[in-house]
Amino acid sequence: MENKQKSKIVIVGGGSAGWMSAAAFSHILPSEQYAISLVESDSIGTVSVGEATIPAILEFNQMLGINEAEFLAFTHGSFKLGIEFHDWYKKGHQYMHPFGPYGVPMQGIPFHHYWLKDKLRGKEQPLSDYCLEYRAALHNKFCHPQPQSRSALANIKYAYHFDAIKYAEYLSAFSMQRGVNKIKGDIKKVHQQTNSEDIKAVELADGSYIDGDIFIDCSGFKGLLIAQTLKVGFEDWREYLPCDSAIAQPSESLAEIKPYTISTAHDCGWQWQIPLQHRMGNGFVFSSEFLSKEVAINRLAKRLPSKALADARQLKWINGKRKQAWKNNCIAIGLSAGFIEPLESTGLQLIQSAIMRLLSLFPSGRCEPANINTYNRYTDDELWRIRDFIILHYKATERDDSEFWRYCRNMQIPDSLQDKIELYQASGRLFRENNELFNEISWFSVMNGQGLIPRAYHPLANHLEESHRQQNLSHIAGAMREAEQHMPNHKVYLQQYCKVKI
Ligand code: FAD
Repeated sequence: MENKQKSKIVIVGGGSAGWMSAAAFSHILPSEQYAISLVESDSIGTVSVGEATIPAILEFNQMLGINEAEFLAFTHGSFKLGIEFHDWYKKGHQYMHPFGPYGVPMQGIPFHHYWLKDKLRGKEQPLSDYCLEYRAALHNKFCHPQPQSRSALANIKYAYHFDAIKYAEYLSAFSMQRGVNKIKGDIKKVHQQTNSEDIKAVELADGSYIDGDIFIDCSGFKGLLIAQTLKVGFEDWREYLPCDSAIAQPSESLAEIKPYTISTAHDCGWQWQIPLQHRMGNGFVFSSEFLSKEVAINRLAKRLPSKALADARQLKWINGKRKQAWKNNCIAIGLSAGFIEPLESTGLQLIQSAIMRLLSLFPSGRCEPANINTYNRYTDDELWRIRDFIILHYKATERDDSEFWRYCRNMQIPDSLQDKIELYQASGRLFRENNELFNEISWFSVMNGQGLIPRAYHPLANHLEESHRQQNLSHIAGAMREAEQHMPNHKVYLQQYCKVKI
């Protein structure tokens, strides 16, 4: 089939969203039916900060057939077992949101109810005793799952930290090998069809004209096609999520490479530390309502864990989402579709799930309303639930040492989150709704870590004879301890498995 008879997909933007889309489409969609182009600008940069991921990224890479060791060596990556939160509930307190589960369900109910029984009597053991990922993180250990093992080592849940620029470079080479046509240039004009709002072509500064049938808007926060051209509105979540700015600055790597992200709350937001093989990624997230950029730059400089490797960069956003991510023949993916601040590393995951959703609804000809409406409904639902999870970190706190935290403690929250908190406080129960991204274990980690204590636990936990319950808990803790002792040091493991080739 000739090129001109193929359906033309034009991806606008060469950040992580653009290249993840290009990689997935070129790998999955038949090349005899689709021609894919990607336009990126050298003068308009990418955000280049999506460096911490969650375990879903493994599925994306596996779908693309990416060799993990080669990928991590190229992107200077490391492994991630969860996020450690410092000073969020109150100053001096810390907890982890690990990727793996606590213990095992007993009598069909989650482990945490059996643990809560001790907690409500003030006799609980640390949660890290019951979760291998948590325990291993605290001991700077990592290894891959060992499916042949009969212990928790069989199912270790992990994700990656990697260099965002290297990530886009890797996917760019991957996509071009599979036929994606990379076009360099600045888009100066977007042309629409005369008889509909459909996008017809984008015009570059040099006058060239790139026409297409389907346009993927990966142009970042500005939403060149979805917002500036198609005028799709924005649902603004500032009232619930006041952090709207970040200062990013890399620094030298430390002696140990921790297998987890660190998030430390400060008086107007929080600071991230993302350990890579060759450097530390740092960022200072804050609310511009409560802190100026200049003060934020200063504060980050003072709190860097090691010597700075580059100047500080500022990023600005509004938390929220496009009212429709798909309109006419344009689908917004990445920051153009919306953004929820990076506290739980959900940016790249949202791109991944948008790509997978689009692939399952990919238009074979015209963009039908049924496809568009289904896509938008699922996108909205996904974002609302993640939004609630992030708000929880700010709302459930004892901090009142600054105007920022007093605002967060007292702000109104969505009913959907209020209901979830009330249910947990009444009964320790949590339900994963509509296959939402964060499961009961994640919600429990953060609810408990942020100091919410339920009044009761599942009544079935009392049906297990007390001596059995205690035996089971100590057996689980012993098994986790033993499994962790078999794991090597994370840095040593990286050096053997995927050392950066310089
Ligand atoms: P961008 O990176 O902004 O790319 C936009 C592209 O569009 C660029 O290539 C640009 O050149 C092009 N473009 C724009 N206008 C034009 C034009 N007129 N002509 C031609 N080309 C144009 N996500 C995570 O998963 N984990 C994290 O730890 C994480 N941390 C983050 C921290 C911060 C502070 C922020 C703001 C985001 C973070 N994210 C994180 C989100 C993540 O960075 C983004 O989801 C991801 O990088 C995708 O960005 P993008 O490709 O949509 O946009």
